[in-house]
Amino acid sequence: MPFDVIVVGAGPAGSATAWHLARAGVATLLVDKSAFPRDKVCGDCLSPRAQHYLGRMGLADAVAGAAHAATRIRFRAPGGAEASTAIAGNATLPDRTLVLPRLVFDELLWRHAVTAGAAFRVGHVRALLPAGGVVLDGEPLPARVVVIATGAALSLIRNTPLAPAGPVHSVAARCYLEGLPAPGPDLRFFFDQLPLPGYAWLFPTGPASANLGYWYNGPEGVSAAALLPRLLKEHAEIAALTAGAGPVGRVAGYPIRTDFLTAPMLADGLLAVGEAAGLVNPFTGEGIDYALESAELAAAQIVAALHAEPTSGALPATALAGYPRALDRHFRALFLLMSAAQRWAFNPFVLDRLFGRGAAGQDMVDRLIAVCFGAAPPRRVLAPLGLLRLLSARPQRPNIAPRRAS
Ligand SMILES: Cc1cc2nc3c(=O)[nH]c(=O)nc-3n(C[C@H](O)[C@H](O)[C@H](O)COP(=O)(O)OP(=O)(O)OC[C@H]3O[C@@H](n4cnc5c(N)ncnc54)[C@H](O)[C@@H]3O)c2cc1C
Repeated sequence: MPFDVIVVGAGPAGSATAWHLARAGVATLLVDKSAFPRDKVCGDCLSPRAQHYLGRMGLADAVAGAAHAATRIRFRAPGGAEASTAIAGNATLPDRTLVLPRLVFDELLWRHAVTAGAAFRVGHVRALLPAGGVVLDGEPLPARVVVIATGAALSLIRNTPLAPAGPVHSVAARCYLEGLPAPGPDLRFFFDQLPLPGYAWLFPTGPASANLGYWYNGPEGVSAAALLPRLLKEHAEIAALTAGAGPVGRVAGYPIRTDFLTAPMLADGLLAVGEAAGLVNPFTGEGIDYALESAELAAAQIVAALHAEPTSGALPATALAGYPRALDRHFRALFLLMSAAQRWAFNPFVLDRLFGRGAAGQDMVDRLIAVCFGAAPPRRVLAPLGLLRLLSARPQRPNIAPRRAS
């Protein structure tokens, strides 16, 4: 059967795009190089924004039923001081995050797409057809649009107009832990005793289990996968929280693309969604929410373009030009702010003032997290008076003397 759209990659972006298209009656083929269930290296945290977009797909209850909920986030500043914030919701966003291993989450989404009517094939797509479509296991499969949902992997798009101009990857790593004495219900971020710019996280996946990870997003020279076992042993707070716990499986690393502001995302017969369009937050490293959101926007544009141009052949980029404009409306201001934060705030001077000011800094921490998770617009953290007060404040004395990993 000929397909109107072939979606390459069945992560959150690809499966959500296929679901939206199949529901709109578009003949859609979803392809992934892995059969499901399959693992994906991740912190497994679903932001309020991600939950909102899952709700729009009728998946909120199924995901929440399988996941571990957290309503607070704790931070340790480079100098050792601590801050915490309640996760903010609003009229449309829940006031909690969910943690659900991708092994389970991605299968739920993939199954949802297939149940909605998307065809699925396991196969590694290594080439695109010049006139529109893909080559799968040597077989040419024409289509009017190929949706690139291949995440941070670049091999398929390297010689296409969707290839990013320069190096775009940073690397994060994670491992799973079981038998934790008391991980507590909160998400934890650590900016101390480790190389900056970057952070470590400890996200509970259950009452005695967690996902522990580290993301380094500076210039080359730090291996996240090599540093993680050291943090487990040598980081005073992490070692205490995980004492006696055993890692399950290996420490696994994977690249992250955060280059949405410069990423090409549209060409004749081709359109990128999710991380393939650089849609991972440069400050927090989360991207499942933007993967789901871009999938919905892409599917709406494709459905409209297929109706407007019912003749055969690859859809020209001009027919889909509303897609990058829609992404810009949704994400440009946020990514400008988060890129600036990644560049200017990931240092002890700012982080000690942000997370180390006790009650005086609480308002700024609350606002920043509300903006990161989509509950408030980016301009909420840019109030000049608040920024000035924050930067001119003296950081608190830490409870524990900080130690720094080399
Ligand atoms: C260590 C780490 C921690 C993270 N933590 C979080 C977090 O806690 N919360 C959050 O929101 N985000 C997190 N992220 C980011 C998140 O993982 C991505 O934003 C998200 O997976 C992007 O979804 P996607 O569908 O665009 O791509 P992916 O999830 O990467 O899916 C891409 C799919 O494409 C398939 N594929 C690739 N190439 C081909 C090909 N040529 N042919 C066929 N199939 C192909 C792959 O098998 C895969 O299934 C983290 C990332 C890392 C690396």
